Amino acid sequence: MERLGRNLERVLARIGDAATRVGRNPEDVRLVAVSKTFPPAKIRAVAEFGHRRFGENRVQEAKEKIPQLEDLDLEWHLVGPLQSNKAKPAVELFDVIQSVDRLKLAARLDRYAGERGLRLPVLIEVNVGEEPQKAGVVPAELEPLARSVLELPNLELRGLMTIPPFLEDPESVRPYFRKLRELRDELEQRLEVALPDLSMGMSSDFEVAVEEGATIVRVGTAIFGERTG
Ligand SMILES: *Cc1c(COP(=O)(O)O)cnc(C)c1O
Repeated sequence: MERLGRNLERVLARIGDAATRVGRNPEDVRLVAVSKTFPPAKIRAVAEFGHRRFGENRVQEAKEKIPQLEDLDLEWHLVGPLQSNKAKPAVELFDVIQSVDRLKLAARLDRYAGERGLRLPVLIEVNVGEEPQKAGVVPAELEPLARSVLELPNLELRGLMTIPPFLEDPESVRPYFRKLRELRDELEQRLEVALPDLSMGMSSDFEVAVEEGATIVRVGTAIFGERTG
């Protein structure tokens, strides 16, 4: 468990260094510790080092784990694909949904957020690499989806999220991060809204993402260790 604390500290230091290198304030980058496949005891251990923001990628798994950690008052992000028929439990479990990629899903989330009397922060997931089997809206369909989401009264569109193509060298991923930032800047201008958040960067490439403007990085392995499940 000591190791988890050291890992967390190291990741935070690397985020800080990357931000400083490009003249950004390290406090403008939030770390989501992605705890998928790891048991509640490990999440609790990381929380005991002062970390409060966690991410899961499956509603079913979150349903089993999050209630066991309710005493800790953690902030939960859904980072994995969401089926419309799981929108209701997703709204009950998560504080932020990062993976909105179609209107039907957004409309469901809006309805359940409304029933709970809250305004739910969401990100639109963009398939910047236009990979056929990957979740996320393709860049050409981003603007119409964003326009529709902005009309839903119980959702707060905070920005964009992406999972770029998997490439060994983190430098080769940089153009995809830059692309997400450009898409966000363009949307802000065209829709005349503020979209402050860019969720991009995982264990292998979060420093490059921070250099390219990430405000949220999603890091699993570098904190919790290798996943076996
Ligand atoms: C698993 C996962 C992560 C974290 O990946 P690591 O490589 O372990 O840091 C980030 N984002 C999403 C959407 C994930 O599913």
